[in-house]
Amino acid sequence: MAHFDVIVVGGGIVGLATALNILEQRPDLSLAILEKESSVAQHQTGHNSGVIHSGLYYKPGSLKALLCVDGYRRLLTFCQQNNIAHEICGKVVIATTPDQATQLDDLEFRGLANGLKGIQRLTPGEIQEHEPYCAGVAGLFVPQTGIVDYTTVCYALQSLVTSLGGQVLFEQPVNSIADEASQVTVISHLDVFTAACVVTCGGLYSDQLARHTINDLDLRILPFRGEYFVLRKSAESLVRNLIYPVPNPFFPFLGVHFTRMIDGSIECGPNAVLAFAREGYSKTTVQPRELIETLTWPGFRRVAMKYWRTGLGEYRRSFSKQAFVRALQSLVPSITTDDLLPAPAGVRAQACDRKGNLLDDFALRESGRVLHVCNAPSPAATASLAIGDYIATRVIARLFQ
Ligand SMILES: Cc1cc2nc3c(=O)[nH]c(=O)nc-3n(C[C@H](O)[C@H](O)[C@H](O)COP(=O)(O)OP(=O)(O)OC[C@H]3O[C@@H](n4cnc5c(N)ncnc54)[C@H](O)[C@@H]3O)c2cc1C
Repeated sequence: MAHFDVIVVGGGIVGLATALNILEQRPDLSLAILEKESSVAQHQTGHNSGVIHSGLYYKPGSLKALLCVDGYRRLLTFCQQNNIAHEICGKVVIATTPDQATQLDDLEFRGLANGLKGIQRLTPGEIQEHEPYCAGVAGLFVPQTGIVDYTTVCYALQSLVTSLGGQVLFEQPVNSIADEASQVTVISHLDVFTAACVVTCGGLYSDQLARHTINDLDLRILPFRGEYFVLRKSAESLVRNLIYPVPNPFFPFLGVHFTRMIDGSIECGPNAVLAFAREGYSKTTVQPRELIETLTWPGFRRVAMKYWRTGLGEYRRSFSKQAFVRALQSLVPSITTDDLLPAPAGVRAQACDRKGNLLDDFALRESGRVLHVCNAPSPAATASLAIGDYIATRVIARLFQ
């Protein structure tokens, strides 16, 4: 039975950044990351849009806002120090109706309140100076937004964790976490471990991990698949950088958009449809037990009632390429279905409470010697190094001083 001061469950970007921050603050602690897959970043982190978010959307004062802005700075420094390709290319947010144009006021206000500088309002002509094929009645240019490959960031985090003495143990799916008076026992498929402290960063399984030590956990993860297309090479010139719609303020996802990836390809998407399995990357992946768990959570029925209209639109875009293209054409009218090739999907872990609220903010839950990251949706990749510092400071102050 191996013993560590700290065990981190989950080798996505949040688990890796947490481990690194713990070891940087306390190099004397022994630490292991237990990851169920055979390499890091196999789930949300390795299937995301690769955007370095600036902090435009988030409620001022929320953890998301504070940790995104702090994480943004840390991530840029990390990329510079570790020679990771990244680019601050800026993005445009496009209003296509007068109503949406007034919503840009709120976005601009939030951005300014979160400390962003240099945000510009754009006229239709100015939109085209940034994105020549894009049409809108008004726009916002946010200069701080950038792009990076988060899997590459994770490889760098992994190598720093191991260089500080941490172990990253793969193919260790954790089945049980028992918080006892003086230690925590963690049982995986293969081994039994003990630790003075456990931090779980399980993404799509974060609620299941939390339920090992919190019986009456007040939330469940709903898996929302985000499907993408990629522009054919011949159409890549239609998009220079990042083009976003004005988001629906009542829905936690940003709407289909265009993203230039760090390798130069242009992704279109993601939409947001309920997946029938937590790792349901395709329309046909169904895990009956997981699906029943989702459908019987009291909050889910309320979500379904609240968002049925938005949800139907998302399903339409999932099953009809034409409908997906129509959403993209509202931003870039000359895009055609022939310009789009299918691309791999991602699945977002979105926490939902019993009352049917999709949790807007990052959420942590603590019990005894265990801290669970229960809701770390976008922009948690951008914010990861700040989330890691926040968690490290908390667990060290509580358990190692
Ligand atoms: C489609 C999509 C687009 C996004 N775009 C962006 C973006 O552009 N910018 C941005 O900042 N954020 C974006 N996000 C959000 C971002 O990717 C996530 O917030 C972030 O990756 C969460 O990291 P994580 O480590 O918490 O989760 P994950 O990356 O999902 O990692 C969790 C890890 O835990 C492991 N695990 C789970 N259960 C167990 C167990 N029982 N035992 C052992 N290991 C376990 C999993 O295998 C996985 O490796 C996007 C997300 C998606 C899905």
